Amino acid sequence: MSEINPNDFINFINKKWAYKKCPICGNMNLIVGDAAYELREFNQGGIVVGSGKIIPIIPVMCPQCGYTILFNKMIVDNKNGTAI
Ligand SMILES: [Zn+2]
Repeated sequence: MSEINPNDFINFINKKWAYKKCPICGNMNLIVGDAAYELREFNQGGIVVGSGKIIPIIPVMCPQCGYTILFNKMIVDNKNGTAI
């Protein structure tokens, strides 16, 4: 699940992201994540194993200010039926 195809992700970004620059500082040299991560549903600070919503995300980071943009891997992979 954590694996991504960097070329497919970069193609997705180039197709969908009209103005590729950091929305905070304007830097145009962004770092594309090479793995997917989990964004878990908040559960009062506790960790719930085996339940709760998890959103798989792929980060794109700005090395100048640290701002991080998150893309939903399910939509990037088009596995949830959402039209791309
Ligand atoms: Zn920035």
